[in-house]
Amino acid sequence: MALPSRLVYDCLVIGAGIQGSFTAYHLAKNGKRTLLLEQFPLPHSRGSSHGQTRIIRRAYEEEFYTNMMVESYQLWAELEKEAGITLYRKTGLLFFAPSDNEEYESVCKNMEHHKFPWENLTQEQLKAKYPGFVLNPGEAVCLDYDGGVLSADKALRAVQEQFQRMGGLIQDGERVKHIQPGQVVTVTTTADSYQAENIVITAGPWAQKVLSPLSLELPLRTLRINVCYWKEKIPGRSGLLQNFPTFLRVVPDGEIYGLPCREYPGLIKICYHGGNEADPDERELQTKPPQIPDVQILCDFVSKYFPGLHPKPAVMEQCMYTSTPDHNFILDYHPLHKNIVIGSGFSGHGFKLSPLVGKILSELSMGKKPSYDLTPFSIARFKKASL
Ligand SMILES: Cc1cc2nc3c(=O)[nH]c(=O)nc-3n(C[C@H](O)[C@H](O)[C@H](O)COP(=O)(O)OP(=O)(O)OC[C@H]3O[C@@H](n4cnc5c(N)ncnc54)[C@H](O)[C@@H]3O)c2cc1C
Repeated sequence: MALPSRLVYDCLVIGAGIQGSFTAYHLAKNGKRTLLLEQFPLPHSRGSSHGQTRIIRRAYEEEFYTNMMVESYQLWAELEKEAGITLYRKTGLLFFAPSDNEEYESVCKNMEHHKFPWENLTQEQLKAKYPGFVLNPGEAVCLDYDGGVLSADKALRAVQEQFQRMGGLIQDGERVKHIQPGQVVTVTTTADSYQAENIVITAGPWAQKVLSPLSLELPLRTLRINVCYWKEKIPGRSGLLQNFPTFLRVVPDGEIYGLPCREYPGLIKICYHGGNEADPDERELQTKPPQIPDVQILCDFVSKYFPGLHPKPAVMEQCMYTSTPDHNFILDYHPLHKNIVIGSGFSGHGFKLSPLVGKILSELSMGKKPSYDLTPFSIARFKKASL
């Protein structure tokens, strides 16, 4: 049902990526008259939420994320039920790291503490379950049985459709140009102007551009991610296409992750968890010399660990991360305006938690006590955040 454009909305959400869409969905579930604004015609591939797949896992170094994943899995199942579709495919997630790695120890401790289904694997067990993978001397690997793949594009569409079914309104192709704070906030876009008692800013890599005119500087870095897909040298020979779980591997240059073949028949997705700084409006232009030779790191990795694959990517796409210095999210109020809520800094790992992020941002916006301790996500943790 379309809402008239001149009313004062209970809440206006800026940015229809996965975080803004889930926030709008939870607000509508709570009976709030909600408008979701998006700068590009939907769907689009300029932000962080597009593409077919994302990893979901319980295995987290930080206890607070491990804990939050319990409800996140439940909320994904709820959306699947409401929308009548399957979004989660269980494949298991292998987490490899040097055996003395602190992150690895914390992951195992957290999995054990929560009694999640998991186990450490020996070289023989790994080979028996996943013949395409090898364990190096001095490395350990554990299996998070509930790890798997989320269908990202489908999920985004499903959550937006559910929001609209509950009476929410999406206006796409309208960029927010100006926000006038106040008891009632006025938001001016390239097409219209709207009023709302509360707003939520979930603008992904554009967050800082939206926040600077509101006198808030956050230590956010926007990174261009090269999403690489790899082809078998001899079709059908590597055995990887039949039995490929999701994986994360700590390597000397950072972290590399992989997902089974979904996007393109015969190709496996293996990516570097990081990238080089880029403006989201000019991501195709390489304005600065790259600091991280991400694609070369991947080529070396693939030729070492997956000799059955061509060591050059067959397809390369782009996506954006918005990273904080500690890689934890920002879920907080604007320090000067209690009716402006900010969800940002998802640092390349926010998709799996988005149903819960949306719930938390909606709680903040409705003035409810948030369901989780938000200290790790506060703006106050940054010395550099300035007004
Ligand atoms: C390659 C890649 C792989 C990833 N893999 C995983 C994974 O395996 N598991 C996982 O959990 N996470 C993963 N992530 C992270 C996850 O996808 C992101 O954390 C998440 O999509 C962030 O969503 P968002 O809504 O904050 O941002 P976006 O999706 O970028 O949404 C922000 C929206 O705001 C809109 N907007 C901005 N400014 C304005 C304005 N002025 N007016 C109107 N609209 C505006 C933008 O157009 C955009 O649509 C990955 C990310 C990438 C890029």
